[in-house]
Amino acid sequence: MTNEPKLRIAVIGGGIGGLTLAVSLHKLCGSRVEVDIYEAAQTFTEIGAGIGLWPRVWEIMETLGLSADLAAISSSDAGDAGQSIEIRKSDYTVDGGSPSEVPRGAYSQIGGVRPFHRARFQAVLAAHFPADPSYTAHFHKRLASYTVPSAGSAPIELTFTDGSQAVCDLVVGCDGIKSVVRGVLYRDRTLAYPADSEPVWSGTVAYRSLIPRAVLEKVNPEHPCLSQVVLFCGQNKHMTGFPMAQGTLINIVGLVSQPEREGTKYDGAWVKEVPKLELLDAYAGWEPMMTQLLNCAEKVTLWAINTIPHLPTYVGERVALVGDAAHAMTPHQASGAGQAIEDGFVLASLLADPRATRETLPHVLQAYDAIRRPFSQDIVQRSRTSGMLYDFLLSPSEAGGDAVGVAGDSAADDLARRSALAQQLMLWTNQTSIMGDRDRALQALDAALTVEST
Ligand SMILES: Cc1cc2nc3c(=O)[nH]c(=O)nc-3n(C[C@H](O)[C@H](O)[C@H](O)COP(=O)(O)OP(=O)(O)OC[C@H]3O[C@@H](n4cnc5c(N)ncnc54)[C@H](O)[C@@H]3O)c2cc1C
Repeated sequence: MTNEPKLRIAVIGGGIGGLTLAVSLHKLCGSRVEVDIYEAAQTFTEIGAGIGLWPRVWEIMETLGLSADLAAISSSDAGDAGQSIEIRKSDYTVDGGSPSEVPRGAYSQIGGVRPFHRARFQAVLAAHFPADPSYTAHFHKRLASYTVPSAGSAPIELTFTDGSQAVCDLVVGCDGIKSVVRGVLYRDRTLAYPADSEPVWSGTVAYRSLIPRAVLEKVNPEHPCLSQVVLFCGQNKHMTGFPMAQGTLINIVGLVSQPEREGTKYDGAWVKEVPKLELLDAYAGWEPMMTQLLNCAEKVTLWAINTIPHLPTYVGERVALVGDAAHAMTPHQASGAGQAIEDGFVLASLLADPRATRETLPHVLQAYDAIRRPFSQDIVQRSRTSGMLYDFLLSPSEAGGDAVGVAGDSAADDLARRSALAQQLMLWTNQTSIMGDRDRALQALDAALTVEST
């Protein structure tokens, strides 16, 4: 039995990243730590669009004991193998509208994506928030700033926008792309280039809408988006549609790029409702299969896709960044939330090491950074490359796809090469294991603590 006081962890933000971290901490550390989660909103909420999770992330859900509850709200035909993805070249009108004339490829081996209604997914995470006196959720608490005393292990002081204060030993920023935690971390580090830690526009906007299954079925009972993930691709634009919420809703996300604007600041609201006509105009002249889908949309929202440039670190001595706060990315690999989940799980695994104390926190956080930063930043890059392939902004050979073994010059051959290359870029989702990364993080911590004790 140790007399060491409990490590007090402040989790800022109760989105998918913050909630997964809290659930993971409880599963792996139990009441050995004290966790306060501070959420700016009135409750744990999410907007009702779709989200896809890959097998690597599903492994975490199984480990945390969430998979049964989540399987109950996933698409009924996702199954263990998940869904395969069809990719189509759609930016021209096909004479007679025959879908068979549209070049098609398929990610046959990249099954496994499990689609969810985002709000329901987050509700399952929230329902698993620990009913344990060591874990407290505080709502309507927006972090304004915090101070990390330089001397020893004096507590970190948190200040909220309502003027209230709290203390902790470790602050974890799960506060999304506009992270206050990241802002203070980079200000305090007095890096030569703190501006490089700020969000930039990817040059892409996303149109999002949810369509009731019955509405699309009425228009075309054979529409492929009723049963699987479909990627409609064309010059500077693509769109994905897939069934979710046990097949009752079809989620559509239309991505429109202005590549020359990448890296600039987006002018205007990052999220807003727009007239349906704007969506229809964006894809005017595309294949009839797509127009059918778009015509079914009612409420359409527009999201500016902003990203975080590759940060030189995700941690300070007693500060860590998780999820979009660390690596907000484009959605072309459907992995932003998945990477937030991986961050939370690996960080909790390290904090569960019995040697993780106030004194050893810098080693814990360095091990987290050493494993999670290169991995998640690689996914940021893969996502960007995938988007450029779908938008015909990069040829397969420019993207390093010469070796995929598809010959020929037709549009169908080009699409097959793109499809094969996109598939290669996604192999990590089901051919690598998060548990291997967790083990490497634990080994890095062990090595650092062993050196220190000798
Ligand atoms: C069009 C689109 C499609 C996507 N599709 C997918 C997909 O299929 N699969 C996938 O894995 N990812 C997808 N993503 C990415 C995913 O949505 C994000 O990466 C993910 O939600 C990030 O989670 P997070 O918890 O890090 O941040 P957030 O979801 O932004 O949560 C941050 C939380 O912190 C709170 N907060 C903010 N500031 C403060 C503060 N100062 N104090 C207290 N609380 C604060 C907020 O209220 C919020 O609850 C998609 C994104 C987009 C735009």
